[in-house]
Amino acid sequence: MIEERTRRTQQVLREQEVAALLVGPSADLRYLVGYDALPLERLTLLIVPAEGELRLVVPELEAARAEASGATRLAELVPWGETDDPIALVATLLGPAGAGRLAVQDRLWTSFTLALQGALPDASWRPGSRVMRELRVVKDEEERRLLREVGQAIDRVHAQVPALLRPGRTEREVGRDIAELILEDHDVVNFVIVGSGPNGASPHHETGERVLQPGDAVVVDIGGTRQGYCSDCTRNYLVEHAPAGYEELHRVLEAAQDAAVAAVRPGVPAESIDAAARELIAAAGYGERFVHRTGHGIGVEEHEEPWIVAGNTEPLVAGMAFSVEPGIYVPDRYGARIEDIVLVTDTGVERLNHRPRAALTAG
Ligand code: ZN
Ligand code: ZN
Ligand code: ZN
Repeated sequence: MIEERTRRTQQVLREQEVAALLVGPSADLRYLVGYDALPLERLTLLIVPAEGELRLVVPELEAARAEASGATRLAELVPWGETDDPIALVATLLGPAGAGRLAVQDRLWTSFTLALQGALPDASWRPGSRVMRELRVVKDEEERRLLREVGQAIDRVHAQVPALLRPGRTEREVGRDIAELILEDHDVVNFVIVGSGPNGASPHHETGERVLQPGDAVVVDIGGTRQGYCSDCTRNYLVEHAPAGYEELHRVLEAAQDAAVAAVRPGVPAESIDAAARELIAAAGYGERFVHRTGHGIGVEEHEEPWIVAGNTEPLVAGMAFSVEPGIYVPDRYGARIEDIVLVTDTGVERLNHRPRAALTAG
């Protein structure tokens, strides 16, 4: 599968008339050669030329880790010693390609990019994402399987959340328990949001010292990485009972999320999914309380293309995976968001999360 990826990457480089793609420690590096490199001040850089051999430049002391990752099946390892100049090494390895158009992975540290630009004055530069999005935006069969599995793994965590949300506990205590549950069937915890009461009105509030009280609505948005692929799922919970006005708001949100998911199929513009959710929320009078886009792509990163947002007219394609996560936020009172990952199929849509979407009463 991964050999197919490097073949296709080189094909995209040729189509875009890019001489080489330069990839530092990142999800792209994992995606291309399976190496989860440490982001260090010492340079690690994969060179993918439009034609010919891939080279992986690594600090000598990281060479064993790079080899153990299996990356050497796909790229020739080029270790550099503590007193070598790795930038000069990359310039030498690039040869004539170093005077052509180079794509640089978006998250390569500025210190490296600037040094490379200094050493390669004749090159022209573009963001690596223009190459990588062509590959990553549509998931192959193996990736779809991994996304289904990680979706089920986060569903199992949500199933245990109601028992954790007891009055008197802090968000932080609950968050720690959730992180432990995530690690039972993920390799990494990416984030844990427990927004209780008014904290739920801030979409990216993580956790804090607030103590749960009867009548709190609680937004729980959690995600991790399992076998290289990410989960991301939000549900809302009630501590003993709902606050005034909340049940109506949550009904609107459920209808909006359903409508958005139902609108997913190949060929429709990405922005139409956002519009499907937004129309219902606006019609119910909460339009100004829905302060973010409806969703984001997901795969080897939590947030990637396609963006489900007004203005993105690109048509959906079978194999795209993204979140559908409308939210309504009432400052000083509460917030609510319902988030599932969906996969675009040949004929419509497949949900990858299956927990009940109603706000469940905790305890
Ligand atoms: Zn987010
Ligand atoms: Zn989320
Ligand atoms: Zn999300």
